[in-house]
Amino acid sequence: MKADVFFFDYSGDRGVLSGLEKLCTASSILKGIPEGGSVAVKLHMGELGNISYLRPVFVRRLVDLVKKRGGKPFVTDTVALYPGGRTTERKYLSTAAFNGYVEESVGAPIVIADGNGDEGVPVPVENRLQGCDLREIGIASRINEADFLLVLSHVKGHMITGFGGAVKNLAMGCVAREAKKEQHRANPPLLDEARCDGCEACIRICPAKALTMKGGKPDREAEKCIFCSTCLFACDSGAFQWERGNKERFQLYLAHAASVVMQRFRGRIGFINFLQDITPCCDCAAPAGRALVPDMGILASLDPVAIDRASLDMIDKAVAIDGSGLPEGPDRMGRLHNVDSLVQLRSAERLGLGSMDYRLLEHTDSSA
Ligand code: SF4
Ligand code: SF4
Repeated sequence: MKADVFFFDYSGDRGVLSGLEKLCTASSILKGIPEGGSVAVKLHMGELGNISYLRPVFVRRLVDLVKKRGGKPFVTDTVALYPGGRTTERKYLSTAAFNGYVEESVGAPIVIADGNGDEGVPVPVENRLQGCDLREIGIASRINEADFLLVLSHVKGHMITGFGGAVKNLAMGCVAREAKKEQHRANPPLLDEARCDGCEACIRICPAKALTMKGGKPDREAEKCIFCSTCLFACDSGAFQWERGNKERFQLYLAHAASVVMQRFRGRIGFINFLQDITPCCDCAAPAGRALVPDMGILASLDPVAIDRASLDMIDKAVAIDGSGLPEGPDRMGRLHNVDSLVQLRSAERLGLGSMDYRLLEHTDSSA
């Protein structure tokens, strides 16, 4: 059965915020909010230095809508695995404020869902596809406690998964640090010794102190490594690389983590994808690059697989911005990053998260 995906098109002179409100009404994505229930409004509030993350003004309108429906919203995300401005609750709150995310702007408290070293609420991964050995996923405690989850995803490129949307937001964004590490384990940076000149830059930057020099080359202690790939980015010689098959494996893991979060909230979850500022790299990157295609609009659905598939299809059909380097044809975001980015959606569909088959319903009310 086709899943419904609702679309508010930016083309034409229509108010975007009122369009967003009407999109929520048409798609019924807020219908499952229980009266007086807590609502986790989950989004990425941007890495320090990133400028293409979702604007707080959209979140404010959605927070107001949640309140109108009787819910008690809080705006939330989880800490990052790698070094930067979001590694701890304190740092993330400071970065969020710098990026315009404070209670006064969004109308609800900002809560870091796995703050203070929270290890998450462990949930076994019961249904596993071949190639995935994830046993358990720790859902970030403050998200797990919520009565309803509203997932807001800024759709953009991603160096490992090709793109990031609703499925990735569930899988990586709603879980605690250890569960992030377990997913990243699927795609470790691998050393090509022939390219290494022994400069030790990777040793100095590794946040887990997992690298030591042995015979003039870095040697990784697997138990210490958190699979953040900071060493890969630090190496000017390109000696660390990701193996292509592992990028697909990483997506398989993503789909399993997403399915755990989805099971927790089934019937009490809604998704909104924002197709704007579609950069080659994700909101964790600073800079994330220039936009690849013009801004398109906003999608809403109850189905994370369908909304991501619709997002990718729209990007595939868009006219690329001159000089963006975006390849033509199917899965152009995946091909930009040398990966089959549909693996996460095919795997998620097989795990029962949703359907790749969808019906696009355009919101055409011109009174917005
Ligand atoms: S940064 Fe690169 S070149 Fe330098 S030691 Fe590490 S792997 Fe070798
Ligand atoms: S060895 Fe590389 S991937 Fe592992 S923790 Fe250190 S920087 Fe991160």
